[in-house]
Amino acid sequence: MNDLKNDVITHTDKYSSINYSPMNLVLSKGKGAKVWDIENNEYIDCISGFSVVNHGHCHPKIIKAFQEQSEQITMVSRALYSDNLGVWEEKICTLANKDKVLPMNTGAEAVETAIKIARKWGEDVKGVPEGRSEIIAMNGNFHGRTLGALSLSSQESYKQGFGPLLDNMHYIDFGDVAQLKSVINEHTSAIILEPIQGEGGVNIPSDNFIAQVRELCDEHNILFIADEIQVGLGRTGKMFATEWEGVTADIYLLGKSLGGGLYPISAVLADESVMNVLTPGTHGSTFGGNPLACAVSTAALDVLIEEKLIENSATLGQQLLNNLQLIDSDVIVDVRGRGLFIGIELTENAQPYCLEMIEKGVLCKETQGNIIRISPSLVIDETEITKVIDVITEVLQK
Ligand SMILES: *Cc1c(COP(=O)(O)O)cnc(C)c1O
Repeated sequence: MNDLKNDVITHTDKYSSINYSPMNLVLSKGKGAKVWDIENNEYIDCISGFSVVNHGHCHPKIIKAFQEQSEQITMVSRALYSDNLGVWEEKICTLANKDKVLPMNTGAEAVETAIKIARKWGEDVKGVPEGRSEIIAMNGNFHGRTLGALSLSSQESYKQGFGPLLDNMHYIDFGDVAQLKSVINEHTSAIILEPIQGEGGVNIPSDNFIAQVRELCDEHNILFIADEIQVGLGRTGKMFATEWEGVTADIYLLGKSLGGGLYPISAVLADESVMNVLTPGTHGSTFGGNPLACAVSTAALDVLIEEKLIENSATLGQQLLNNLQLIDSDVIVDVRGRGLFIGIELTENAQPYCLEMIEKGVLCKETQGNIIRISPSLVIDETEITKVIDVITEVLQK
């Protein structure tokens, strides 16, 4: 059996570009919160495709929507109307409480769209001189790998060799209001942030920071862009992570789990006064809002509400957090999180600990070297959560 696994890895490595270095694990099946590798070993998936599979692997209702739509029509292009785009649009706009939605495909594309909107809004509405719009981003952010999104990144290693990137981007420490105030000026069009940073290490900003960003945006006529691609749609125990501070953003970006774990779709949500800066011909996407994506996403949003996944994330997430915080270990610096989005920060490289957890049936991965990100599917149950707690405790408590 081990030969089969090695054959798959060798075969894949022969052709894959080397911009990833995957661990030695070959998955071949998933159901709910669990996955199985090619040797039929079972794991509780605490990576979930980095919060793509929030509804659990291969959710029957989402698969059914996919199958039914694929026998009707899958692609029309936005040069025409399709019969289910409006259905999906009404659902997502209602959930987000925004007038308008612009569908794209990947997270990075949603970010690109937001940058374009921010610049255009800056010039057309705020009156920033042409080409002078500025955007403020947070240190430690992750907004994607395309050139616009990359221009927002504070991580030099991500940007090295890809210049020139977009101008007029500023960075401040996540949570530092004084720094933020010092870089805001009359050319600032937007502030973009993840309400809780994912890739950056499950970083929760200091109390009130998000609310203060909102106040500064109102005071200085600046757009507040919340990148909720990873933390939105229930991951943190709320529909949007900005709700933790009772804040509403001007632009919401969604992606990842918006496609129910089986089809890529992303969205930019805003009120008319902001969205209407994009007029016919100023933006678009061939696949954005295609019928297959809309059918799958509509089903995914229904499942999110009907199966009370947000509530489950809040309840089981709190239980997981409470128990992980009880672990007595010299290597743990901090255990933090909201809902089923938890970071365990260690004093040292977290990879060996992750590998031990995987050996015991809990699939997880480190970020930023020393932080273990735990983000199981929101369909995870009590028995599975108990196993996750037991395994992590066993591995770290020594
Ligand atoms: C994953 C992610 C993105 C990029 O999404 P892609 O679909 O990989 O382009 C952007 N922002 C955040 C917060 C993310 O977690």
